[in-house]
Amino acid sequence: MKAELQMEKLNLIDLPGVGAATAEKLEQAGYRDLMSIAVSTVGELIEVTGVTEAVGRKMINAARDSMKMGFETGTQVLQRRQLVNKYSTGSVAFDNLLGGGFETGSITECFGEFGSGKTQVGHALCVNVLKNDPEAYAVYIDTENTFRPERIQQMATAAGLDSEEALSRIMVARAFNSDHQMLLTEKVDTLITEQKKKVRLVVVDSLTAHFRAEFIGRGTLAERQQKLNRHMHDLAKVAQSNNICVYVTNQVMAKPDQFFGDPTQAIGGHVVAHASTFRIYLRKGKKGTRVAKLIDSPMHPDGECCFEVQEGGLKDLV
Ligand code: ADP
Ligand code: MG
Repeated sequence: MKAELQMEKLNLIDLPGVGAATAEKLEQAGYRDLMSIAVSTVGELIEVTGVTEAVGRKMINAARDSMKMGFETGTQVLQRRQLVNKYSTGSVAFDNLLGGGFETGSITECFGEFGSGKTQVGHALCVNVLKNDPEAYAVYIDTENTFRPERIQQMATAAGLDSEEALSRIMVARAFNSDHQMLLTEKVDTLITEQKKKVRLVVVDSLTAHFRAEFIGRGTLAERQQKLNRHMHDLAKVAQSNNICVYVTNQVMAKPDQFFGDPTQAIGGHVVAHASTFRIYLRKGKKGTRVAKLIDSPMHPDGECCFEVQEGGLKDLV
């Protein structure tokens, strides 16, 4: 497993025929990792870097060889699954909905209306990840300015943690626009490799707000989806190559043509839906409770549960 993870971290410059100048040309053209080389064509590489056809072919083959793009047995997949950690939300019912908690190596998405509890879930996960491992760090990419250290303090204290120490293990960044948000996602790797932080959780709250605000009108939809797709790809890579739990929040919009059932749908369409391994719809229930509904999971039945947001975090109903 470890060896495989490190392979993904090979740099462009490690490829045959790629020196500093060629690597820079590639990076400027958007080829940032071996996967992008492995799936490119010789023609593209020639155009971008001016290398010969033979060198271009060698680069692609070397990138493909290093990526282990082949098959593996089900047994190997199962072995890898055993490395998956599950982080608690604080509510046993909510955890059970997901077979024990939010998984590492995957993206979990909560979508729902304003005030449905998406941000509270993010805060609760941070605290539970920190509690689970005294060396763990959580990363919070905050796009709506709703990260509240006071809220972390409350939940950390309730979880029996030193609230100041807990705050010191959360790396928060405010993303000012979608480009910045994507850049911050790339920087998570730096926290891990250069700053040697044991990042176990990355929260992106909200995943879609900037994209939604910046790309308005029908003409820009394709461009937005393309960019969002790249962002989801980057997040999936963070999750998989470092065995990190990625939690993203998403808004809903009115579906004017829906007369029966829930008249809302998540932003981002298929791009977000396909990239998220687990999708949960959050809504307000009776008497201030919250309802979480599992919409999409590769291995759990769809289901629903109720929980409460309390000062100390997410709790089961009594
Ligand atoms: P979303 O991110 O989906 O817009 P939030 O996660 O911000 O929604 O949820 C906000 C709600 O969480 C509040 O309306 C309130 O019901 C609940 N909440 C926030 N802080 C507390 C607290 N300290 N104690 C109890 N409930 C809280
Ligand atoms: Mg929120």
